[in-house]
Amino acid sequence: TTVFVSGATGFIAQHIIKLLLEKGYHVVGTVRSTEKGDSLKASLNSDNFSYEIVPDIGVEGAFDEALKKHPEVTVFLHTASPFHFKTTDPEKDLLLPAINGTKNALSSIKKYGPQITNVVVTSSYAAISTAEMENDPSHTNNEDSWNTVSWEQAISNPVHGYRGSKTFAEKAARDFVEQEKPNYVLATINPSFVFGPQAFSSQVGDVLNTSSEIINNLLKLGPDGTIPPTVGGFVDVRDVALAHLVAFEKPEAKNSRLLLNSQRFNSQSILDVLNKSFPQIRGKIPVGIPGSAPEALAKMCKIENERTRALIGQPLIELEQSVVDSVQQILDTKPDL
Ligand code: NDP
Repeated sequence: TTVFVSGATGFIAQHIIKLLLEKGYHVVGTVRSTEKGDSLKASLNSDNFSYEIVPDIGVEGAFDEALKKHPEVTVFLHTASPFHFKTTDPEKDLLLPAINGTKNALSSIKKYGPQITNVVVTSSYAAISTAEMENDPSHTNNEDSWNTVSWEQAISNPVHGYRGSKTFAEKAARDFVEQEKPNYVLATINPSFVFGPQAFSSQVGDVLNTSSEIINNLLKLGPDGTIPPTVGGFVDVRDVALAHLVAFEKPEAKNSRLLLNSQRFNSQSILDVLNKSFPQIRGKIPVGIPGSAPEALAKMCKIENERTRALIGQPLIELEQSVVDSVQQILDTKPDL
């Protein structure tokens, strides 16, 4: 089986591709430049991986040529989407590329991938919850919950912009499938914040991908730094990668939304793990109020994902393990931190 993976250089996509190759699949990935493709190909070190260049998923027909060249592809994993908050124009930089990128993937499949049987779109917990739902302890989100963000709200700032980009992109995918009734089966993966090690330690730079930077940034704060008010749910990248395979391998996953969430966390929960597990950085990072996280997290809404956990079929990696593995890799790369 040959699996097509858009956004192959991404934090999550690299783990997906590694796992696919380990399980004997062939993979065609899309990257934005030859340089990025060659570097990824060298890291993966597998004859079963090849890449095609798609500089911008938001351009009409973006995936046409790549799919025309690969009639052997039967599974399409669409992971590419902008995930950052560095913009003064969320509509142009977040919403439109995410939504059009998804529509372009599905239109190219319609034209040049009639043999494709499964499409998996990497959506997000951002498409499930709003800030208001998050802060309501009497509320419960599950696989059927939807973010109700409006377009006006989404274009108002980068955080709403990212959340809107994932919500409207997933809606576009589901609408497309409902209207076009294609031959393939669609599933989406809806993870909360994704932590865990990079697929290759060569990826550990000073600044990491947006979600990994939440942990990396705490390492840079110094003992008296202001602790960021970050709070959310988390899931380990290795479980997110596995979910992308489950989504097309298991017939029961048809049409589903896999809500990938292991536990809730805030900055304090991460700091507690760091101060406990890494004596060499104690005194260099804030201590905060150890043990105070659960009280703060109890003010958030519940997240229920029993259906997803049953599909995954193994326990999700817990926060402590994920944070330790992330930071061990960073410390191995930068011993003088
Ligand atoms: P990364 O930023 O590491 O990966 C994003 C990938 O998409 C990169 O390969 C990037 O290419 C590519 N990309 C972005 N915009 C474009 C574009 N306009 N044209 C072509 N390629 C583009 O992020 P993650 O791995 O974390 O995210 C992967 C997916 O998972 C995204 O859909 C994201 O929304 C989703 N997700 C992530 C979560 C997380 O916490 N990490 C949580 C929930 C969902 P390049 O780097 O070359 O720009």
